Amino acid sequence: MTSVGIVAEGKYLTRDGVKDPKSIVHREVEENLWIKDRLSVGASTGDYFITSEYRRRSRYCAAPGLLLLGDALAFLDPVVSSGVMLALKSGHLAGEAVHEGLVAGDLSPARFTALGAAIRQGVENMRKLVHAFYDPKFSFREVIKAHPEAGGQITDCLSGDVNKDFSQLWSWIREFVPLPDDLPYGEPLVEEPAGTA
Ligand SMILES: Cc1cc2nc3c(=O)[nH]c(=O)nc-3n(C[C@H](O)[C@H](O)[C@H](O)COP(=O)(O)OP(=O)(O)OC[C@H]3O[C@@H](n4cnc5c(N)ncnc54)[C@H](O)[C@@H]3O)c2cc1C
Repeated sequence: MTSVGIVAEGKYLTRDGVKDPKSIVHREVEENLWIKDRLSVGASTGDYFITSEYRRRSRYCAAPGLLLLGDALAFLDPVVSSGVMLALKSGHLAGEAVHEGLVAGDLSPARFTALGAAIRQGVENMRKLVHAFYDPKFSFREVIKAHPEAGGQITDCLSGDVNKDFSQLWSWIREFVPLPDDLPYGEPLVEEPAGTA
């Protein structure tokens, strides 16, 4: 079972007065033969609905017996197309961390501290670009005109090279628009031994 959605401007989706979400989806499916063929083997079971808010974050990346990755850990607005990259990257890093944990005989949440920090760094960097993008006062062109080196850094971040220090880029962009601070999410849930809190 999986979910299927369409991303487009409301004005386009509701053209010719079509407002019902189910009719909107089926009209778009009919418009794309490849999608139509892919979906022809399945049956629709759920409700149809419209949303404009996609973001969510999990408080912890790991708890005893549980490791969260990809969308389960953090989902950003798809506008910068970071979801698949972050899912693959977090899966790859998690594979290595779990392997090391199995070899060491220790899969406790604390073992995934570095993994959580790496994923969080990538998510937070992408998240800042998403925020800038949606600010009407933001323009890639203006930032790059003022700071030519910003061009390469923006390209790096958008292309998925997200695990590095972009603080210089954020301070250049903050000259034009505000950017959010990091959220305190994504570390492992490490419980203090009883009596130490
Ligand atoms: C409308 C929309 C547009 C997007 N556009 C882009 C884009 O252009 N570019 C981009 O990079 N990203 C895009 N994304 C984001 C991207 O699709 C996700 O970030 C990415 O698919 C996350 O991968 P994942 O493996 O974490 O999760 P998923 O791809 O959701 O995979 C999770 C899988 O687990 C299965 N599952 C769930 N529960 C269970 C269970 N109990 N047992 C067994 N299986 C289960 C699900 O069926 C699913 O197949 C978009 C997302 C949406 C919603």
